[in-house]
Amino acid sequence: VATAEQDTATDPSSAQSASLGKDAVRIEDLHKSFGTLKVLKGVSLTARQGDVVAIIGGSGSGKSTMLRCINFLESPSGGKIIIDGEEVKMRADGTPADRRQIERIRTRLAMVFQSFNLWTHRTLLENVIEVPVHVLKIPRAEAIAQARVLLKRVGLADKEDAFPAFLSGGQQQRAAIARALAVDPSVMLFDEPTSALDPELVGEVLTVIRDLAAEGRTMLLVTHEMRFAREVADHVVYLYQGRIEEQGPPAEVFGNPKSERLQQFLKSVS
Ligand code: ADP
Ligand code: MG
Repeated sequence: VATAEQDTATDPSSAQSASLGKDAVRIEDLHKSFGTLKVLKGVSLTARQGDVVAIIGGSGSGKSTMLRCINFLESPSGGKIIIDGEEVKMRADGTPADRRQIERIRTRLAMVFQSFNLWTHRTLLENVIEVPVHVLKIPRAEAIAQARVLLKRVGLADKEDAFPAFLSGGQQQRAAIARALAVDPSVMLFDEPTSALDPELVGEVLTVIRDLAAEGRTMLLVTHEMRFAREVADHVVYLYQGRIEEQGPPAEVFGNPKSERLQQFLKSVS
């Protein structure tokens, strides 16, 4: 990554060069409780522009809750969330204080869920153009042209008129990624994007994510695919019971884990 950054940083034609290295997402001392259950107990992390941050950890450690707080699907109980340098204004109860700000920031984030979450009564093309047309107010013809480029990119050029139910899980997830890309997000949040897939369909989705990582998309990726995390991530965060137990470059976290809990965890998933 250091090399890739240098290359783009010295290339004045790169549109991204100005923003590379800036913080795309920063969370500071994030807390989240559900009633008396403390799920996040002070998590802080930073993803710079172009970073791929992999989040690993056992079931129930708070990985999804963390992504959902970043995407305003949950209201934090405490802490700060800063997207593209802009701190999310929250009320004391963690709910957004400024609806306009949230609407603006929302369009810079895109989330891909384990369960695809496509609109089942719409074709793939309609799924991809929905937010660009209705939220971003992009002219329909332009949105359609763009959607076709994205569907082609994820290998679904011939499926634009298909409804999700007629596609494999891998195709649905690739369509969900095309839909996420349609807002040209500055940050993509992936929550176990391959864990609902039959094993033979995992590879096609990882290939799409790998390409996005290679082109410098900033992403936070919750995954149980350890080999993939090791390959694509710039930074790996291991969550244990709502806290970051260990973090670092993939070679360190996977190759030389310091925490005993992480060592145990890696044994249990390998
Ligand atoms: P992970 O994604 O790491 O498996 P989650 O963030 O989904 O973990 O969940 C962390 C803990 O928070 C779990 O104990 C889960 O039951 C609890 N939890 C998650 N969402 C809710 C909710 N909406 N209400 C109550 N408890 C929740
Ligand atoms: Mg989860």
